[in-house]
Amino acid sequence: MWETDVPLATLTRYRIGGLAPRFARLETMADLLDAVRSMDGLEYRVLGWGANVLVSDRGVSEPVLTLTGEFDSVLLSEHAMEAGAGAGLPALVGDARRGSRTGWEFLEAVPGSVGGGLRMNAGSVDVGVWDRVLWAEAATPAGELIRMSPADARPTYRCVDVPGDWVFTAASFEAPAGEAEEVHSAHVERRRQKIESQVYELPTCGSIWKNPGPPHGSAWEVVDRAGMRGAIHGGAQITERHANFIANLGDATAADVLWLMSETRRRVADTEGIWLQPEICLWGFDAEELDSVGAAA
Ligand SMILES: Cc1cc2nc3c(=O)[nH]c(=O)nc-3n(C[C@H](O)[C@H](O)[C@H](O)COP(=O)(O)OP(=O)(O)OC[C@H]3O[C@@H](n4cnc5c(N)ncnc54)[C@H](O)[C@@H]3O)c2cc1C
Repeated sequence: MWETDVPLATLTRYRIGGLAPRFARLETMADLLDAVRSMDGLEYRVLGWGANVLVSDRGVSEPVLTLTGEFDSVLLSEHAMEAGAGAGLPALVGDARRGSRTGWEFLEAVPGSVGGGLRMNAGSVDVGVWDRVLWAEAATPAGELIRMSPADARPTYRCVDVPGDWVFTAASFEAPAGEAEEVHSAHVERRRQKIESQVYELPTCGSIWKNPGPPHGSAWEVVDRAGMRGAIHGGAQITERHANFIANLGDATAADVLWLMSETRRRVADTEGIWLQPEICLWGFDAEELDSVGAAA
């Protein structure tokens, strides 16, 4: 089950980061429950598609788990979609579009797994996946399976109130039938907007900062006003198209990305009097590095 010294750069969308000393690709529920029980109080991390994770150049010290095999299924029924946590959000959205199910265009062009989507409450500014959840299931470190409702998980913007060491395994989502033409054009339009305004042709991690909200506006606006749009450090660049994205131009290190984040945060504090908070997950950094970008240790 366990592989050693696995390069996380190959498993994250950013293509950045060092090694995981122990890495398990878990294909069955029995494998997952065995793996979490075997941790015996030791901390571990769960990797989905790595579309929202920046891994340190030094890698991580904790074992890393990822879900595949039986966790990859998506099943469309009359009014719902049931998906394993290893399935892709694009598969969910594609099934909704092809099956003419209404209310799923908000997730068009959002990369990631269902498990990562549940943990991050992925979505648009107004709608998150938890707005569609009927139930979700997670494995606890003790190897118990807990089924929860949105009321239990208390989702907020890009966040859920579910212990960080619980591993989402599956969820059922509402998927009511809609009018085929309307569903199709809503998806096409949303995808067009995303591809036009965000960065898909280079490795990124999606939006770096949480939106600070009124009166400051969106994160990209404050980064822009701080004069950081287009800034380059080493192999990383705050993209010209979207100032809340930092791209890997080819040979970026995590240190390059962290430098741009820390410099942006400092300048935004000067221009706006606020400290930006990261939306991305930072793995393997020390307390000082995390503090420099406003992330909790
Ligand atoms: C080009 C681009 C566009 C994006 N656009 C959007 C957008 O519009 N809206 C949006 O919300 N996000 C967006 N993102 C960010 C990303 O797509 C989402 O955060 C997505 O949910 C990440 O899923 P993942 O499987 O890649 O998670 P990962 O990046 O692998 O992990 C993210 C977090 O989820 C945890 N996690 C992963 N799987 C599980 C599991 N099974 N159980 C428990 N925890 C788990 C990880 O431990 C980590 O804390 C974008 C990213 C990119 C690169």
